[in-house]
Amino acid sequence: MIYFDYASTTPLNQEVLSAYTKLLQQVYANADSLHAPGREAQRLMEKSRAQIAQLLSVKADEILFTSCASEANSTAIKGFALANRHRGNHIITTCVEHSSVLKAFAQLEAEFGFKIDYLPVTKKGIVNAERLHQLLNKDTILVSLMYVNNETGAVNPVIELCEYIHQHSRAMVHVDCVQALGKLSIPLSCIDMATFSAHKIYGLKGSAFLYKQRNIKLLPLINGGQQEQGIRGGTSNAPANIVLAKTLRLALEKQDEHYAYVRSLRDDLCAKLQAMENVQIHSNDLCVPHIVNASFLNVGSEIMLNALDERGFCVSAQSTCSSRSKAHSYVLAAMGLGEHIATHSIRISLSHLTTADEVNQLIQALKEINHDYGTE
Ligand code: PLP
Repeated sequence: MIYFDYASTTPLNQEVLSAYTKLLQQVYANADSLHAPGREAQRLMEKSRAQIAQLLSVKADEILFTSCASEANSTAIKGFALANRHRGNHIITTCVEHSSVLKAFAQLEAEFGFKIDYLPVTKKGIVNAERLHQLLNKDTILVSLMYVNNETGAVNPVIELCEYIHQHSRAMVHVDCVQALGKLSIPLSCIDMATFSAHKIYGLKGSAFLYKQRNIKLLPLINGGQQEQGIRGGTSNAPANIVLAKTLRLALEKQDEHYAYVRSLRDDLCAKLQAMENVQIHSNDLCVPHIVNASFLNVGSEIMLNALDERGFCVSAQSTCSSRSKAHSYVLAAMGLGEHIATHSIRISLSHLTTADEVNQLIQALKEINHDYGTE
């Protein structure tokens, strides 16, 4: 099996695995219990929170552990909108967000009467800033946008966008940083809320966190005890939360080195894809190199996926969270690429673990499939 689906999830780092295994055995007390093992679990969890905060240059009480980035997105968006509706009822996002963001917005509109605007994206897949400028108004309380798109790798100019929003409105900005973490630097000083997930950076599934500036009020979505400042009830997953600091440290430590390596792999992959017949590459110079989205004009996404699977290659079409719906890629459609392109695309995602030989094997398989099925 050759894995090209790192944007869906990553394998567990061995150091994280061995630390976690020990924690599972040793740190089983409830971090809210007042006895010694409970206090120790709490101490280790707070140490991890402080380390995460330090790695991202924020304060420890601005980090809230959650079970996944989908939960962190829901908490940031619904929690903020519902706690701040007295300030205005207009919220903005983009039409290429992850489903956890889009569905939170749709729910706020359908169930709670918020007025929503979806920002279009340019042909290169980044937020249309002009439209954002037009849409901001005195009722806008929140703008949620992603840093890196999970289907194309397109990178939004987050600093400029945040600065503009803060200068021209009262809105807070939430940024989904899930696909940016471990790849790009994260400018939290200009962001009000941001979401991150461990399993995209060689950490545990079911482990994530929300960064939230101190003064921001959120309505808790999970009621319970005092955990996570009362914003997210439920017995803390102490071992997962404790190992998250190590996961993040390891991901950031070699970020630049890994980025340069992945870029060289991507350049090679794209050059070889470009030399093939009937292939259109949608990832561009504004994208992280870890994601290459391309359409094989004569081979539908599902056929390509299955043919690659039979040959032992793992790739995705669209994002994995939409993979069971037959819908075409709404991200490519939003980039104006048309129905045919949007139903014929695949996402190849790369990592520092990918080798040049694996890329060559994938190219060989793609050539064969393109030839065999290429008469649609
Ligand atoms: N946001 C983006 C951009 C993603 O790519 C993903 C996962 O694919 C998520 C959010 C959700 O992350 P999680 O699986 O931790 O809920």
